[in-house]
Amino acid sequence: MGTVEAHGLRKAFGDVQALDGVDLDVPDGSFFVVLGPSGAGKTTTLRAIAGLEKLDGGSVHLDGRDATDDTPAARDLAMVFQSYALYPRQTAYDNIASPLRARKASASDIAAAVEQVATLLHIERLLKRRPAQMSGGEMQRVALARALVRRPRAFLMDEPLTNLDLKLRVEMRTELTRIHRALGGTFLYVTNDQVEALSMADHVAVLKDGRVQQVGTPADVYERPANQWVAGFVGSPRISLLACRAEGDRLVGAQGWSLPRPRWTTAEDGRPLLLGLRAEDVSVERRGDVALAGEVYALEPLGDRTVVDVKVGSELVKVKARPHVTGTPGDRVSVTVDLDRAHIFDAGTGLALS
Ligand code: ATP
Repeated sequence: MGTVEAHGLRKAFGDVQALDGVDLDVPDGSFFVVLGPSGAGKTTTLRAIAGLEKLDGGSVHLDGRDATDDTPAARDLAMVFQSYALYPRQTAYDNIASPLRARKASASDIAAAVEQVATLLHIERLLKRRPAQMSGGEMQRVALARALVRRPRAFLMDEPLTNLDLKLRVEMRTELTRIHRALGGTFLYVTNDQVEALSMADHVAVLKDGRVQQVGTPADVYERPANQWVAGFVGSPRISLLACRAEGDRLVGAQGWSLPRPRWTTAEDGRPLLLGLRAEDVSVERRGDVALAGEVYALEPLGDRTVVDVKVGSELVKVKARPHVTGTPGDRVSVTVDLDRAHIFDAGTGLALS
């Protein structure tokens, strides 16, 4: 078992409310990612669960048992940080073996456990080296091996890939998902990188200002964002949001456009709304009548695609286009909209309407 539940976690540092009632329900065996911008309270949440931060309120349950007042050691959780925190004078083998030595495991059990985890992480050839003789990515693997070898109740990971270069980060994302599948443990992972979250997680909690905004699968938070803020934080390029209101069977934009109102929109006439359009759900090639008139504002070639910013009145719509699309700022274009995939938010509360 390895369930982790946090209920109503509250923590203030002076006048900063770092955690403002955080609830998390991490199922056994899940790869659960807490995603949020810098300062959202991710590290504080993890430290509170690990028992390293004294809470002002709330409780932590591990495997269904109240562990709020347990010492960190009694919780049997392993933390992996963005800094590797290896012992510099020890070899990789000794670093990995240290938690087992502390538990007084026998030399043969230690050797077997280190060998097993070294094979899993493909670091057999590093075992005799000291940290100074390893690259950042290698040290990160050794740090991970040291956490994995203990077989704790759950792993808590605080942005462990942040210090790696882009290529290694991409590799380690795949590696971590593989390791998670192979080990079958509970991973609670915090990051501000939405690609990490969407690519590795089976559950994502989106955190802002010490409050959970939405919990769901990666597809839920991307395709069905609970509010305007989640829609804007998850997804690149950023979702375009256009001010509008419903009028009968039309959506009427503040910039003068008018589109058929999607069947599923429940808003009453006149209520201020925001139409959310992801860049892949709009197109600058005219395919139908459902279109907004605008002009090219800028083009951003990104190799596999070009993002075209189209100005509709004074608002911008980002459009994912083919890599070699041509255009010049000022060109008049029409933006075709896939309204079945559009999002509508209440402009006052920011909440999604469906
Ligand atoms: P990052 O992605 O930058 O690491 P985070 O989401 O992990 O951010 P936390 O480190 O949990 O955020 O911090 C949440 C808030 O609490 C921030 O405003 C931070 O400045 C504040 N904070 C965290 N630890 C302390 C501390 N020991 N003393 C004072 N303020 C703190």
